[in-house]
Amino acid sequence: MNLRQPFSPSPSQAKPKAGASSYAEADGRPDDSTFDLAGWRQDFPILNRQVHGSPLIYLDSAATSQKPLAVVDRLQQYYLQTNANVHRGAHTLSEEATFAYEVARDRVQAFLNARQREEIIFVRGTTEAINLVAQSYARPRIKPGDEILLTAMEHHSNIVPWQILCQQTGAQLRVVPINDAGEIEWQAFTALLTPHCRLLAVTQVSNALGTVNPVAEMITLAHDAGVVVLVDGAQAIPHLQVDVQALDADFYAFSGHKVYGPTGIGVLYGKRALLEEMDPYQGGGDMISRVSFEKTDYNVLPYRFEAGTPHIAGAIGLATALDYIAGIGLNRIALHERALLDYGTQALAMIEGLRLIGTAQNKVGILSFVMAEAHAHDIGTILDQQGIAIRAGHHCAMPLMERFGVAATARASLALYNSRTDIDALVAGLHEVQRLFH
Ligand code: PMP
Repeated sequence: MNLRQPFSPSPSQAKPKAGASSYAEADGRPDDSTFDLAGWRQDFPILNRQVHGSPLIYLDSAATSQKPLAVVDRLQQYYLQTNANVHRGAHTLSEEATFAYEVARDRVQAFLNARQREEIIFVRGTTEAINLVAQSYARPRIKPGDEILLTAMEHHSNIVPWQILCQQTGAQLRVVPINDAGEIEWQAFTALLTPHCRLLAVTQVSNALGTVNPVAEMITLAHDAGVVVLVDGAQAIPHLQVDVQALDADFYAFSGHKVYGPTGIGVLYGKRALLEEMDPYQGGGDMISRVSFEKTDYNVLPYRFEAGTPHIAGAIGLATALDYIAGIGLNRIALHERALLDYGTQALAMIEGLRLIGTAQNKVGILSFVMAEAHAHDIGTILDQQGIAIRAGHHCAMPLMERFGVAATARASLALYNSRTDIDALVAGLHEVQRLFH
């Protein structure tokens, strides 16, 4: 098979209408020409580079997304024109840096539709946000015999902090099982909302399966049972419109680098009433109002949870990234990615010996799979030789891999800049894997 030949489904799969010349035309779904994909791609100059002599095909955005020029320019402008510490100096640069940092907080507040800016805490990422909730919210409140409820598809970031908490408090972890498609087993979930259950920590979107969990419904049931809910939004935020008030999430965590922003910056949203009752997780500068050797009074929200010099440029860059995707429109991004996911799912289904892991009804653009011939790491290495970047491994979700009886999967993950050409390249690359392993 020619490398990078366009995928065209067989007539029995595509069932085109009479006269339709392509699959996209046949089913009326968007294809690469529906939106200004070429324009979007130009916003990401890294996509023009070559890897091992081939054009880069970047299919690893669930690990980290590429950054648009708008974000890179904003970071450069900040460092070249403004750089100073925040909340400290009486001088102009410090005032400007503080202003930009606090405007970034307002931007995140608006993006999540949080009620108040005090509910937005800047942290390093999802991992730090979850640890903060485990230590500041849960640790003083959880008693021996209490239960923390997770799902079988959580990332290690949403498992290990709760295991540490259980060791510290004598609480126990409970896990909601999932079905073979990678969806929550609803009856088991409701049965686990017992009077012992104190907190539910659930991912909105699985990084290894792409499953979109019905978190709004889960939160409603959890609240009816008196259970506080933390939502891990790391994989949801680049793909779905998130409204923390509509969800009624108690805590919501995400990372900037998965949503076209810088690494090292993320957000914890928490309901004000809960945050007000919490003591800090870390001590240091900026989180205090008064310190003596006898006693420290903590600062007001949100600064109480932002000890030390924050990632100022990161927060500003994150706000720019959120502006960038809001400018395109999350609905358009979702439509484009959904069409691409369907295209990719059908294309991969035609490869003999390939098994898709994660076939939920409600999914975002993640294609996780194993192949009969080759180990996931071999697939990753062979594709890399062709300039195609995917992730191979356990995706920081070892219990999930065990659930599906695999040690690792190969994962192609989609972002707004991906095209059908990228999927065609992936399919051609996988045929090359088969050829090499036959
Ligand atoms: N949760 C999920 C679902 C993730 O995909 C990730 C990142 N792979 C994390 C949490 C952790 O994010 P970070 O490493 O940015 O803290």
